[in-house]
Amino acid sequence: MISRGAGLSYAAASFGEGVRSVDHKLFNRIIDFHPDARVIEVESGKTLGDLYEFLVGRGLFLATQPGHPRITIGGCIAADIHGKNQSRDGTFINQVMELTLFHPTHGVIRLSPNDEPELFRLTCGGYGLTGNILSARLKLKSIPSPMAEVTLVPVDDITKLPEMLKASAARADFVFSWHDFDSRGSDFGKGFIQEGRFIESNDARNTNLTAGKQTLSAESRGDWKLGIFNRFTVRMINTLYGARAKFASKPIQLSLFDSIFPIQNSKELYFKFFGAAGFYEYQALIPACNFTYFSKSIQLWLQKNDLPLALASVKLFSGRQDLLRFSGDGLCICLDFPRCSTSNEFLQFLDKLMLECRGIPNIIKDSRLPQNVVREAYPQYERFKSQLHQFDPARLYQSELSKRLEL
Ligand SMILES: Cc1cc2nc3c(=O)[nH]c(=O)nc-3n(C[C@H](O)[C@H](O)[C@H](O)COP(=O)(O)OP(=O)(O)OC[C@H]3O[C@@H](n4cnc5c(N)ncnc54)[C@H](O)[C@@H]3O)c2cc1C
Repeated sequence: MISRGAGLSYAAASFGEGVRSVDHKLFNRIIDFHPDARVIEVESGKTLGDLYEFLVGRGLFLATQPGHPRITIGGCIAADIHGKNQSRDGTFINQVMELTLFHPTHGVIRLSPNDEPELFRLTCGGYGLTGNILSARLKLKSIPSPMAEVTLVPVDDITKLPEMLKASAARADFVFSWHDFDSRGSDFGKGFIQEGRFIESNDARNTNLTAGKQTLSAESRGDWKLGIFNRFTVRMINTLYGARAKFASKPIQLSLFDSIFPIQNSKELYFKFFGAAGFYEYQALIPACNFTYFSKSIQLWLQKNDLPLALASVKLFSGRQDLLRFSGDGLCICLDFPRCSTSNEFLQFLDKLMLECRGIPNIIKDSRLPQNVVREAYPQYERFKSQLHQFDPARLYQSELSKRLEL
């Protein structure tokens, strides 16, 4: 069997052939709450959107959140997700004070950085393979209001990005960049850094919470049989989107909800634009010193091959890499492109390039990542595997992901 949160991962991490998925969505209660100490304990099926609604009016916030409000706390722990200022806030493990785990052989176990620390680290970023996470005690952060101010900083030269992101991450609360990787000319890599800040505000928009209206689901993703992303449309969209930075000379204010969950409501159409065939997301953490070589090599490959690159985005990371957690020092780049015959060649090229640049791939984002690539990229692949087998020799928890990666 394997646990399932919202089932929103791009990889088949919560299901597999011959595997029973255990849905945690109804385990969504708040168990304990200490606003003064800024601590909350919730069941693992609690969604980020629900938690946001409960906390935001109380001036509190979860510092590390991925980009969709229906993602669950269990999914955040098991994939050790990153948020929008990883270099300052770390990954999700940094927000977890304690969790309870159920495994049929071991019963219910309390884990924390001090109690059973090895199993705690194996479970945070363990892809659900150590058992069912039942609940978690989380650290919270105070916020001045439910509004954010967003500034766009133009990036005219991708080779300057590492330094620019460092400066942005030091002065802003959320930082990520957008780039035009579809341009085959001198505009390749141009774009902007989006800097977000918490602000004081009485704006009424803060009450307009939309967590309940999210429709993204595995069932509806392929409703549009044909995709609209091709070289022509992607060129047009990237040109228009890239022009945003030129016209947005002043900071804009928007709700914190819209700022931390960029792909929700009408923007979920983005996924449908890829059609029933869907898309690939490739995300890799590349050491800053190799980032220019990495991006230039991609430019050269795309100049010779016909593949529309719908999205390129970068975040700054810092910290220590451990087990199979997607963390460490460097630039985290994310690329989206339609699923087609050329995309398979591109993925093989990216795997080789990422290894050459001493990067690591994001296991939860890539539905086809081969075992040999993960084993070569993650120095502690064998350690993760042996700790897992020591804890659970029968290997009761499995998924397509764990079988593909031979865990
Ligand atoms: C629009 C969008 C934006 C995203 N943005 C980001 C981002 O900014 N940063 C980032 O890091 N990721 C991001 N992601 C990826 C996402 O955060 C992870 O894939 C996350 O694990 C999904 O959570 P889920 O609740 O859907 O879990 P599922 O997809 O159901 O499961 C994911 C993994 O968690 C395990 N799991 C879930 N619940 C439990 C439980 N209770 N006990 C034990 N194991 C459990 C599953 O077994 C599986 O291995 C994004 C995904 C989407 C769709």
